[in-house]
Amino acid sequence: MKLRYGYNERMTEKLYYKDPYKREFDGVVTGVLSGNDRRVRVTFDATCFYPEGGGQPADRGTVNGAVVVDVRKEGEEVVHFFDQDPGFVQGGTVHGIIDWDHRYDFMQQHSGQHLVSGTFYQIGGIGTVSVHLGDEITTVELDVESVGDEVLQQVEKRVNQTICMNLPILTEWFEEDELDADSLRREVKVSGSIRVVSVEDGDRVACGGVHVARTGEIGLVKLLGTETIRRHVRTIWKIGARAYEDYRLKTAVTSRLVDLFSSPLEKLEEAAQNTIDKLANAEKTLQDAEGRRAAETARSLLSSDAEVITQVFDEEDGKFLKSVATTLIAEGGQLFCLVNRQGGRLQWFAGVPADKSETNLKPVLDEILPLIEGKGGGKPPLWQGVGGRVEAALEFLAAFRKKTAS
Ligand SMILES: [Zn+2]
Repeated sequence: MKLRYGYNERMTEKLYYKDPYKREFDGVVTGVLSGNDRRVRVTFDATCFYPEGGGQPADRGTVNGAVVVDVRKEGEEVVHFFDQDPGFVQGGTVHGIIDWDHRYDFMQQHSGQHLVSGTFYQIGGIGTVSVHLGDEITTVELDVESVGDEVLQQVEKRVNQTICMNLPILTEWFEEDELDADSLRREVKVSGSIRVVSVEDGDRVACGGVHVARTGEIGLVKLLGTETIRRHVRTIWKIGARAYEDYRLKTAVTSRLVDLFSSPLEKLEEAAQNTIDKLANAEKTLQDAEGRRAAETARSLLSSDAEVITQVFDEEDGKFLKSVATTLIAEGGQLFCLVNRQGGRLQWFAGVPADKSETNLKPVLDEILPLIEGKGGGKPPLWQGVGGRVEAALEFLAAFRKKTAS
């Protein structure tokens, strides 16, 4: 790493803690480093940019118009990463703006997660093992192997009640020896000055993230489902504006389904199940009919006194042809070759009846497949494949008859 200017010893003033709602700031460049990864790392005397930490992603935004691609905490400094050299010099002044929609989304996610974890603890004494704040969903992994639906519903309901009560979310700093660790929901993982975040419903936890000021700002919290991971239950949530968006999407989808099935919402599942059952019955009926048609087709081919059976079909279903071929093998006494002109290509089946199952058609096929630019394979009693020259179907069958006739 090449040192251009040293980091100033002074730590960065963390404006995101002073006022989590501050979106812009003026600062002075205290250090510029360019790393081997070509990314330029810059520190300022103060910043609104929250560095990645505690499960909360780094802020996005710009400083003097240059895009900040990452923000990380190194010691007490907040380091801003730039893909392109923003041309900052030590002592220069800057104006930074954070992507507020992104930040506020994660303030809602993080604060909502506090309520979820706190409520699981209060209702069922269930601890949180890990948390993930993703771009789409927030997950909370619980320290239990299973949770009943009743508890899940109770937690979701209580969390939304706490949101409606619009309780303050408070932040206080303590020195390690001043803090009553037993008053916290979770063990403290840091030392020195400890930041404690509490909701007035009684939840207190050490946390370095940024939160909304009152629970009402979280808006809405909805449980999407659960899954089991590492013998723990992971609960999956939509929080804040994302929960409204999820509701909007689901309303739009269910409205379309109500129209499609001509059924009221309450009976939609029943209507969908009826349609699936009807479709399964129809498929079964169709399959039975196709089976009968294949058997009749095979019988009609077998009734001819030709020494070798050959037949051209047009736009038939592959399954139907296969079914004809298997019947010819089971019931027939003749070698056969069937072709199907389908969608600009030629599908072929060649087989030997059960009583001639030692006959190998491979040498014959190897010789005549070039006529249709065909390929494929198989073993006694059935070979199959496709060819590219549809117009050579009759020539191919004639060659088959000639090569296999005794
Ligand atoms: Zn937090």
